[in-house]
Amino acid sequence: MNWTNKGCEFEEQGRRFKELKAIYIFGAGISGKTIYNMYADKIRIKGFIDNDPAKSGIDGNNVRTFLISEIQLDEYEAIVICTGQASEREIAAGLTEIGCLSDKNIYFMNTFFPVFDMYVNDVLCLPSVSYLPTTACNLRCKDCLNFSPLIKEHKFRNIERQKADLDLLFSKIDRIILFHISGGEPFLYPHLAELITYLSEHHKNKIGRVEMTTNATIPPSDALTKALADCGVNLIVDDYRENVPEFQNNFDMLIKKLDRYGVLYRVQKAENWISLSPFDTNHSHWNEAQLRLHFTDCAVPWQEYRDGKLWLCNYAAYAAVAGLEKIYSDEFYDLNDVRADNRNEVLEFRMGYSDKGYAEFCKRCAGYGNNPNKAKVAEQSWKPQAFQTPYQKGQSHGNTPDKDNGL
Ligand code: SF4
Repeated sequence: MNWTNKGCEFEEQGRRFKELKAIYIFGAGISGKTIYNMYADKIRIKGFIDNDPAKSGIDGNNVRTFLISEIQLDEYEAIVICTGQASEREIAAGLTEIGCLSDKNIYFMNTFFPVFDMYVNDVLCLPSVSYLPTTACNLRCKDCLNFSPLIKEHKFRNIERQKADLDLLFSKIDRIILFHISGGEPFLYPHLAELITYLSEHHKNKIGRVEMTTNATIPPSDALTKALADCGVNLIVDDYRENVPEFQNNFDMLIKKLDRYGVLYRVQKAENWISLSPFDTNHSHWNEAQLRLHFTDCAVPWQEYRDGKLWLCNYAAYAAVAGLEKIYSDEFYDLNDVRADNRNEVLEFRMGYSDKGYAEFCKRCAGYGNNPNKAKVAEQSWKPQAFQTPYQKGQSHGNTPDKDNGL
C-alpha cells in the first residue's frame, strides 16, 4: 500500500473505534488470551467466541466463551478475530455470511488493536516484531523463508548492541503484542539467555507475549532452559523429524528438558511450507499498480526489527542479508527518527504503508499469504551442519567472542 494521506490513513477507523462500547474476542486460544490480558482494562470485553463447543462456558477469571450462535451484536459492538493468520480470513467470511458486516463490526487483531491504541489511548502499539539474534543455522532447508542457507558467512550479533537496540525500540514504541524471536536457529546464539533475561527485566511490561521458534535439533543449556522458564518465553518447537530423523534423540532430549524446567511450549508440525521461489519468479515487467496489489494480497504479517530499524517486509529484509537483493532506504523506518509528531507514520508503516507501496523484492517473490507454491517441510538441500553451541563445546553461554556484522 502506498501512502496517499501520510499520518492520517487510519483516521476514519480511529473515529469509529472511539465510538465502540464493547468487543468480543473471536478465538479462545493463546492469541485471544494474550489480547484479553492486555486490553481487558482498556475496553469492555464481553467474552470470547469460539467454534469449539468444548471451550464454551465460564473460565476461572469469570470470562464467558460463547458460540457464535449465541451472539447478538449491538450497534456499537464489534468482533475482533484473534486467531492465526491462516484461519482469520475464513472466519471473517463465515461471520459475514451470518450477517456481521466486515469493516463495520469485524476486525482482525493485528490491525484493530494498534489503531485502537493510537486513536483511543494515544499509545503506539505494534502487532508484532520479528527479532533474529543470529542468522546461523545448523539445518540447510531448501525453502528456508529466511534464506539462511544462502548466507555466506554467519555471524552472531553483539550482545551489548542488541541491548541498545532493544532500549531504542521500547523508548519509541509503547506496546508490542507479540515479540517473536527466531533465526537462523536461536539456540545457536551464545548470549541467548542473557538477551531474553534483559528483555524480560527491562521491557516485559510493554510486551504481550514473547515467542521463540526452535528447529528442535539442539538441546539448550541448563542456563538457557532456566531463562526460558523464568522469562515466560513461549517456545514453538518445530517438528522436522520426518526430514531430519538424525535429530530424533535431540528432539526427545529437548522435550524432556522443557518439561523438567517448566518451559511453556507447543510442538508445531506443519503439513507443508510455502516457497518464495526467488529464482523462479519474475515480476519485473509488472507496473506499479500490479506490484502494489501483489504486496497487498501477500499481506506479509511480519516486520523484522534490526539495527534500530523496522523493515517493511521480513522476507525482503532477509533477502538483502543473504545477498539476493539490495537495501532500499524507503523499505525501513529508522526508529531514531520517531518523534511525537510522526508516531502515526510509524503505525502506518508497520501496517504496510510506504512511499512506493511494495518492496523491490516483490518483483522476484511469489508472496506469502497469496502463495500457491507448496514446499516440503524442512527438506534439506545438503547435509545439515554439525554446529555446536558453546554449551556443547563445554563453555558457558556468554563467553564466546562476538563477530558482529550487523546482520
Ligand atoms: S511478495 Fe514477498 S517480498 Fe513482497 S511483501 Fe510479500 S513476502 Fe515480502
